Amino acid sequence: MKYFDIIFVHAPILSDLELKKKSKIKRGAYIFIPMGVFAIADYLEREGFGVKIINYPLERYLNAHWCLSNYLKNIEFKICAIDLHWVHNSFGAIHVVNEVKKVNPNAKIVLGGYSASYYHRELLNYYKNIDCVVKGDGEVPLLQYAKALNNDFQYLESIPNITYRNNRNHIKVNKISYIAKNLDNLNFTNISLLENHRKYIGDSRKIMGISFNLGIGRGCPYNCPLCGGGQRAQERISGRKKVVLRSPEKVVEDIKTILDNYHTNSFFFGHGSYPANLSYWKKLFQLIRKEDFDLSADLEIWRLPFPRDMWYEYYKTFNRKHSSISISPRTTSSKVHQQVAKICDPTFNFPLNQIQDLIKNANFFRMPLRIWLTLGYPFQTHLDVLNDFRFTFKCLLKYGTSIVKPITIMNEPYYIFPGSPAHENPEDFNVSLNHKSLLQVIHSFKQSKISFFYNVINYNNQYFSGTTIQNLNKLLFLCAAPMFLTGS
Ligand code: SF4
Repeated sequence: MKYFDIIFVHAPILSDLELKKKSKIKRGAYIFIPMGVFAIADYLEREGFGVKIINYPLERYLNAHWCLSNYLKNIEFKICAIDLHWVHNSFGAIHVVNEVKKVNPNAKIVLGGYSASYYHRELLNYYKNIDCVVKGDGEVPLLQYAKALNNDFQYLESIPNITYRNNRNHIKVNKISYIAKNLDNLNFTNISLLENHRKYIGDSRKIMGISFNLGIGRGCPYNCPLCGGGQRAQERISGRKKVVLRSPEKVVEDIKTILDNYHTNSFFFGHGSYPANLSYWKKLFQLIRKEDFDLSADLEIWRLPFPRDMWYEYYKTFNRKHSSISISPRTTSSKVHQQVAKICDPTFNFPLNQIQDLIKNANFFRMPLRIWLTLGYPFQTHLDVLNDFRFTFKCLLKYGTSIVKPITIMNEPYYIFPGSPAHENPEDFNVSLNHKSLLQVIHSFKQSKISFFYNVINYNNQYFSGTTIQNLNKLLFLCAAPMFLTGS
């Protein structure tokens, strides 16, 4: 029997994957593993621990009869770490917790990631099978927790960032005192620790449209209303006040590692572009060009401007085969942007003329541009929604059936993530949350079905119910589909 000190399990979104019927894995099954898991697993392995990563939805995709419990019965392990980063995995994560404890009652179960960090007390309070939650940056706290294995789990009170159950079954909350200031000692590309790692890289493109998520940094300087990864949310969840970026040289090393070991040359940059970091991206692109890689890459614009010389840099550095640049103004209504700007982020500003400039540049350089909208966004009126449809139709007529003109309007309904400005102060955004407590959240995901879109909407606003928001977004998606289907 193989022995591991610690196994990492990436949970499914739904437990019905456990039923042995053929399940169609769609984009919404989210086979992606948060980038940090690879870095943490590698960090522990370098410290001498036996480590394995298991991707539950990927395994079920590869074999409809794959069963977690059978897999676990054939290995020995002392700790099981489960990523609960995206709240969509919450029901699946609890399902995994219970499966693991049934097979190996002595294993310690640790959860981590943004959502676990946000709900750390509730997780331990409601789920007796969970032993510990690591809040925020996980590598050092998890290493110390694994080391505590050798001391019968004494001295847990000195481990940073953890909330845990002590010997007397009391919940103890340790302070967040580990916040990584430098990420260059972490390795984000030790994918070989993952079961079926080659399939993961190969099939991610097929299922998710992206091959490999490249770790660039941690943190974000902004506060978009529905995002749990913004500056204030992160400060609350993980104590992080500032963005930390990896050195461009390290990122290039990662690209080399992936190119040398896997059949892919397409990457998604796990951090966006904004005025304060344009020089970082320029330096990175320059280094990539020096290596003469033949690469596709996806980059998000988090804040404008994204000047013409950046387009040129992008055009010079990457092939256009699977490349794209994305921006998420969420709506074309400047009135909505201004209202959001007033409440939570003065930089939330995506003027239509600057969006038109992006379109012009994308056309000029023939680099695909994706513009992401969300119907039912806070403060959007019926007229705003109509205008977003109008904008989409105009783009469709101009660019919709051509593979030469690379503009695509994408859209998705959005979940208000825990820790986000609208989650913490819904009344400021005229939204009402349907489920705020962890138990309600988990229940809502239990009821959901896997689909192309985010599968649960957790709010109504003054103009639209959650169901209407889902339906409007489906309709817009269908209208914009020709652009998506004929685009790059
Ligand atoms: S959605 Fe906004 S707050 Fe969240 S990571 Fe992107 S830019 Fe930052």
